[in-house]
Amino acid sequence: MLPAIPFNRPYLSGPETQYIEEAVRSGKISGDGIFTKRCHQFFEQHMGVHKALLTTSCTDALEMAAILLDLQPGDEVIVPSYTFVSTPNAFVLRGAKIVFADSTKENPNIDVTSLEELITPRTRAIVPVHYAGIACDMDAIRALADSHGLAIVEDAAQAIDSFYKGRPLGSIGELAAFSFHETKNIIAGEGGMLVINEARYAQRAEIIREKGTNRSSFFRGEVDKYGWVDVGSSFLPSDIIAAFLWAQIEHMADIQHRRKAIWQQYYEAFSSLTQLGVGLPVIPDYATNNGHMFYLVCRSLDERSALIDYLRQKQILPVFHYLSLHKSPFYQSKHDGRALPWADHYTDCLVRLPLYYQLYPELQQRVIEAVHEFYQRS
Ligand SMILES: *Cc1c(COP(=O)(O)O)cnc(C)c1O
Repeated sequence: MLPAIPFNRPYLSGPETQYIEEAVRSGKISGDGIFTKRCHQFFEQHMGVHKALLTTSCTDALEMAAILLDLQPGDEVIVPSYTFVSTPNAFVLRGAKIVFADSTKENPNIDVTSLEELITPRTRAIVPVHYAGIACDMDAIRALADSHGLAIVEDAAQAIDSFYKGRPLGSIGELAAFSFHETKNIIAGEGGMLVINEARYAQRAEIIREKGTNRSSFFRGEVDKYGWVDVGSSFLPSDIIAAFLWAQIEHMADIQHRRKAIWQQYYEAFSSLTQLGVGLPVIPDYATNNGHMFYLVCRSLDERSALIDYLRQKQILPVFHYLSLHKSPFYQSKHDGRALPWADHYTDCLVRLPLYYQLYPELQQRVIEAVHEFYQRS
């Protein structure tokens, strides 16, 4: 039998375990050690952002953002319905009310034309998710946010090394959250990062990340003792995580090159399927592709189920994901009842194909052929 082709396989670039050993030998493996500092410096310089802070996950970075915005119970936050639970959950933890927005017809990103009518006097923030690493329409979101005094928090979990009109994703909102979960492009097992683009949030972010203490100022010699100055939690990762991440960062160009080549191969191989009405990723002129994800949009839920079954029989393991959050068991009774048809459409019809560094040409060819066979049969 042919070897199974998993959906994802975490890729080690080489020096991960060596750097972990170095971190251990340095004598300090708690947070903000030598590798964490290297990672911070890299992202601040590479993305040209005010401050980058590693966190234990993107979920934690989003939770930090919600604390930084000082959300009060009843404040409203606009979030796409078609996203991972952490995007709204971080704000729900602060007592905020989530106002779900629909996706666009072209791709699962938030439909900016639907936003104006969702804004009320209680709206505090918009949280665009750059789905598959493809930018949302940030100028339109920025114009709305500025005219209504709202903050933008980018959920850039999937958006490392991707751009909007030449600007790195994660550098546009007041705050942005990235993920280094093993299913993302650049990984650390579990890990994340909060990016701060507004200087006024920087000092408080350090405090929130360090259990509500001014420990970071203390280590820089700015205060002579540290104490409890605000709310916070333990959001900083061990330097062992940062050591792993540093190995990935060093090989980011190679990883990205490979992922984009696989993506392009899929895109060309499946372009003919659009004649049948099967959807492929759409990258607007203002956006780039970062090779995070390749997906197809089937014509119906039945077709997607049949395609997934067919591929599984051939030892290929695609996945579907995101069940519209406005219909989730937790939120449906709190949702205002508006229909969000595009979120539901992607919920039913989108399927993600295997995409990982070691998806070598002969393996990828098996996936491509199996998908074509499926559509020739049906
Ligand atoms: C992966 C992901 C998250 C969560 O990231 P973690 O690091 O696992 O917390 C949040 N939002 C989106 C859009 C994601 O893809």
